[in-house]
Amino acid sequence: MSAERKTVLVAGGAGFVGSHLCDALLADGHRVICVDNFQTGSARNVEALENHPAFSLIEADICEVFAVEGKIDQVYNLACPASPPQYQADPIHTMMTSVVGTANLLKLAEQHGASFLQASTSEVYGDPEQHPQQEDYWGNVNCTGPRACYDEGKRAAETLCFDMLRMGRVDARVVRIFNTYGPRMSPDDGRIVSNLIVQALRGDDLTIYGTGEQTRSFCYVSDLVAGLVALMNVAPNPGKPVNVGNPGEFTIAELADLVLEMTESRSKLIHLPLPVDDPQRRRPDISRAKEVLGWEPRVPLSEGLAMTIPWFAGQLRSNPAVKGR
Ligand code: NAD
Ligand code: UDP
Repeated sequence: MSAERKTVLVAGGAGFVGSHLCDALLADGHRVICVDNFQTGSARNVEALENHPAFSLIEADICEVFAVEGKIDQVYNLACPASPPQYQADPIHTMMTSVVGTANLLKLAEQHGASFLQASTSEVYGDPEQHPQQEDYWGNVNCTGPRACYDEGKRAAETLCFDMLRMGRVDARVVRIFNTYGPRMSPDDGRIVSNLIVQALRGDDLTIYGTGEQTRSFCYVSDLVAGLVALMNVAPNPGKPVNVGNPGEFTIAELADLVLEMTESRSKLIHLPLPVDDPQRRRPDISRAKEVLGWEPRVPLSEGLAMTIPWFAGQLRSNPAVKGR
């Protein structure tokens, strides 16, 4: 248990990353209040915590004002759909979640004198012209395209955080998360890791958008959670965004080959059109995280996939109708 027991609010705590964060905070001896509207998360992700005496769940949308009992010490804002098909399904609500929802949570943090951590994203760099991406790169984002509801919403949320910090109103911190994977990703969320594993396990065709030469850098979820907790607790507040991701860079075609090999699948690859504004390359420069947090990822892709594939296999056993998207 950590030295000081805190009460921590995790918005988006029933999602993929948020549920792992709730686990880690409870394991560290803290009280956790999970706030979620279950838009993309699931009660199943936190059902093991239901009877934990230090865990409570509030079903609420962060765009609305909700009541919290007692004093809160820290607020993590992870509430926002993260998969492109999911955040584009209701783009206005995605934008509102990042702007209105983040403003609401910042106000809550201000009222409680709580520290605040905003889950931002590598998408603030858009289709980057700098490679690897450093935090001082301002990005290349299309503000009118189909990804803008997410990218621009997250950029606006960062603005709110740094204004609150500069005004001395909230001890706000911003992490820029790069593609993260692991157990509890929703099998049909449409992201690349979930799609490829579910397709390979089912013997369905693996869907490669475009040539498959575009790259991503994949971080295992336990590494990300360690980075989130480190940034929330580091003193002094770095006052700048911090990239957290695994700098190992893979083409989508390489990832598909690795998944086929590790699942021993005979599925074929099929090529589908590349989505509009799909970033071509993405890899974090993590110098700042190393320097400020003493953080770096520990789990290489093959090890992370070896822990993730059995989880998806279990999902398919309990619901054979589940498909990639
Ligand atoms: P997820 O979709 O699994 O989780 C998001 C959670 O937020 C879900 O439980 C959802 O129901 C909840 N939510 C969404 N809108 C809400 C609202 N208006 N009010 C209350 N709850 C709401 O996604 P994830 O992968 O766990 O991502 C968590 C956070 O990390 C997101 O903010 C995402 O933008 C950020 N992020 C994730 C990745 C990644 O690769 N996983 C990469 C970059 C950034
Ligand atoms: N992608 C793909 N096939 C899929 C899903 C995604 O080729 O079934 C590609 C997608 O076009 C992108 C990359 O994989 O180039 C990562 O997509 P994801 O949606 O996981 O994350 P993001 O684009 O937000 O980084």
